[in-house]
Amino acid sequence: MVAVEILGIPCKLTEPTLLKAIRVVLGNIAEVAPQDFQRLKCSVTRFVPSSCEDPEVVGFAGGPDPGPVGLRESAGLDSLSAIAVVAHELGHKCTTGKDLEPYRQTFYRYLSGYGRTLWRRVQVPQEPPTLKTKVRDLVADKYASKWGFEEALRHDEPNRKPECFFPPAGQPFELRSPSGQHATFLVTSERELECVSDE
Ligand SMILES: [Zn+2]
Repeated sequence: MVAVEILGIPCKLTEPTLLKAIRVVLGNIAEVAPQDFQRLKCSVTRFVPSSCEDPEVVGFAGGPDPGPVGLRESAGLDSLSAIAVVAHELGHKCTTGKDLEPYRQTFYRYLSGYGRTLWRRVQVPQEPPTLKTKVRDLVADKYASKWGFEEALRHDEPNRKPECFFPPAGQPFELRSPSGQHATFLVTSERELECVSDE
């Protein structure tokens, strides 16, 4: 098969909705955030069909180190959801440790070190995502929104497993330490994190 390239990035996918979504998303990023686009040209080595066993996972991407972005061709996404998924996965490929730092600091500040424990907890397969994993997803969405895909993200929201993400902007969530302290946080409309009460 002849390798296809989309804006210079090799692509092994053949599903038309996903191909179109990749074109739209990369095209927009190149226009509105050329620096992010240059970073993606280094960090995304190619687009490949997802080989993930979990049928609920529609996309995967590592961090900013060079590597592939995988997308599930059989997911049957409509065009707006496909755009949301592609933009989110590319958000992961732009996310650096520096992006995560303010969130880490917020969690470290509260609950007498319990926030720190939660942040540092290593993700165990089959268990709910850690704070850090949820923050990574939040930051990936922040990039997607910055690139102009807020509407697509909202459209795709019902397809997401709520337990894997923070609640939507403005809806508080609470963390409670084993010693009974609790702190309430919320995600702002800018996808930043605020502590709104701490006892
Ligand atoms: Zn994600």
